Amino acid sequence: MPSCPECESALDFDEDEIEEGDLIVCDECGTEYEVVATEPLELSRKEESGYDDHDGDEHADEEEE
Ligand SMILES: [Zn+2]
Repeated sequence: MPSCPECESALDFDEDEIEEGDLIVCDECGTEYEVVATEPLELSRKEESGYDDHDGDEHADEEEE
């Protein structure tokens, strides 16, 4: 079972029941991870995004369509 990179506690989920795009939340620290791949399992940390999408505050150099 993978452990949380933030607090190193075990992430409690069933690997057989997750799919790409699922969200996993660490019970200990509340960090959210998105499942980006299942074989092998790969998690992407969901950064807190407290900024407004429409407001290019500092960096607006990410190109996504
Ligand atoms: Zn954690």
